[in-house]
Amino acid sequence: MGYNVAVDGPAGAGKSTIAKLVAKKKGYIYVDTGAMYRGLAIHFLDHGIKAGDTEKIIEAAEHADVTIRYEDGMQQVYVNGENVTARLRSEEVGRMASATSPIPEVRAKLLELQKSLAREQDVIMDGRDIGTCVLPDADVKIFLTASVEKRAKRRYDELVEKGEQCDLKTIEEDIRKRDEQDSTRELAPLRQAEDAHLVDSSDMTIQEVVDAIIAMCR
Ligand code: C5P
Repeated sequence: MGYNVAVDGPAGAGKSTIAKLVAKKKGYIYVDTGAMYRGLAIHFLDHGIKAGDTEKIIEAAEHADVTIRYEDGMQQVYVNGENVTARLRSEEVGRMASATSPIPEVRAKLLELQKSLAREQDVIMDGRDIGTCVLPDADVKIFLTASVEKRAKRRYDELVEKGEQCDLKTIEEDIRKRDEQDSTRELAPLRQAEDAHLVDSSDMTIQEVVDAIIAMCR
């Protein structure tokens, strides 16, 4: 069994930025489970499937082969042999991932992949249900959060930096909706595991959060 660090929290809390830095410093593999849901979402979108069409989603998920590879230490997501990593981060894909992730067949598809990645190597894995469902025996569990306003502003700055057109209020609305969807769903909702450390990054720098997490790890 590898050494496992689970990081859960709402959209835009900085999980991936922080987890990547901790991984680098500690020599862990960084596993981004949101990217797997996003990979499947791309598959659904490419097949012209609407978010509400559960039957078609289940059928398409059955025929989607999601695999993860590491190239230069960076996680790459392949769906049916195609590297979809460059397309993962769009808002459209994020919305589709959030809308389809409550479906049990979609979650079951990715659960075994996530568990197997953590079994043999030291990982820091981020998502929504890592400490509660995927790795309930993780060595360290962190629930990373921040206020909706701060999370929206961070995402806004990120998109502006990439030269994308965006509107702060729309991003804020989107985050609220995503929080609501992720935390009220029946299966594997976003919630803090009882034994998770709560880290509120609203008024912390990235380095402060990284240092706080490293201090909790072996
Ligand atoms: O973290 P990220 O924004 O990339 O995740 C996209 C969506 O995938 C989330 O809004 C959530 O619905 C879903 N997800 C999940 N369980 C995880 C990781 C992500 O349901 N472990």
